[in-house]
Amino acid sequence: MSFPDITPDLKAAMPDLRGRLLANQSLAELTWFRVGGPAQVLFTPADEDDLAYFLAHLSHDIPVCVVGVGSNLIVRDGGMSGVVIRLAPRAFGDASASGDIVTAGAAALDKRVAEVAASADIGGLEFFFGIPGTIGGALRMNAGANGGETKDVLIEATGIGRDGTKHTFSNADMKFVYRNSGVDPSIIFTSARFRGVITDADAIRARMAEVQTHRETAQPIREKTGGSTFKNPPGHSAWKLIDAAGCRGLRIGGAQVSEMHCNFLINTGDATGHDIETLGETVRERVKENSGIELHWEIKRIGVP
Ligand SMILES: Cc1cc2nc3c(=O)[nH]c(=O)nc-3n(C[C@H](O)[C@H](O)[C@H](O)COP(=O)(O)OP(=O)(O)OC[C@H]3O[C@@H](n4cnc5c(N)ncnc54)[C@H](O)[C@@H]3O)c2cc1C
Repeated sequence: MSFPDITPDLKAAMPDLRGRLLANQSLAELTWFRVGGPAQVLFTPADEDDLAYFLAHLSHDIPVCVVGVGSNLIVRDGGMSGVVIRLAPRAFGDASASGDIVTAGAAALDKRVAEVAASADIGGLEFFFGIPGTIGGALRMNAGANGGETKDVLIEATGIGRDGTKHTFSNADMKFVYRNSGVDPSIIFTSARFRGVITDADAIRARMAEVQTHRETAQPIREKTGGSTFKNPPGHSAWKLIDAAGCRGLRIGGAQVSEMHCNFLINTGDATGHDIETLGETVRERVKENSGIELHWEIKRIGVP
């Protein structure tokens, strides 16, 4: 399937644009699940000013969505109409430390931010070492693991609004909740500053090794997956509810509930976005029938079926 190519019109309306506009770009390759249709337009801004210029000049009836490295995304098979924005590491991937503060661009990988913090003896950011996303995704999702989450270490984030204006959000402004932020969904985060605690380097390295061992032994990290599919309901573990409902290993088409960790869905090779989403909905129904508890998606689903 393909969408009408609107990139010539966009280029004509934005003569000073420096970033790259591509029509009908596959999104499957940009996500961990490796499924889904194309983006009508994929825009890679040259830098923050270029992103602001693009948004300020983009007609308001064109939908916009931003993706990180797609470690928490199911892209539906019909793809995404409008513009999908991807921040390139070259322009948005820097990470540096000073004192007890780490500054990172939104395209910096969480793992890299943990490394930069560790190299400067800054503790408290070790949990980032095990999360395979970007800082942009961490800000949107309040990513967390092994007892820490983004909310615990964020000082402030910057982002660009749909009209191209720049905003700064304090930790309180981010309205963090479990695996989400209350900031308007149209905001595209571009950078963040985190505060840790100066800590003994060996203790930080030991903690990072623990985080890595936990991943390797408990999660199917080498599969095509999207991480935890459902949020843990208050007082429950999603995986236990899924296991109790008999869903471990359940398959629909090329999608399967992981045998290793049953809150993870995997693409065994030829799954479609529809297979994965249908499997997730089937799991939700079975858990509801078995326990009366409703699971809520943690993974973001985007695009048209
Ligand atoms: C094997 C595996 C293990 C995982 N383990 C964990 C874990 O332990 N803890 C955890 O919290 N998560 C985990 N995840 C999920 C995922 O890594 C996190 O949610 C991560 O923060 C997503 O980042 P991303 O860059 O991949 O974002 P995407 O998956 O690309 O996008 C996720 C959401 O963030 C938004 N977004 C992305 N970039 C920006 C931006 N710059 N500005 C605004 N919004 C943006 C997207 O629009 C989307 O809504 C795991 C995933 C996998 C595959």
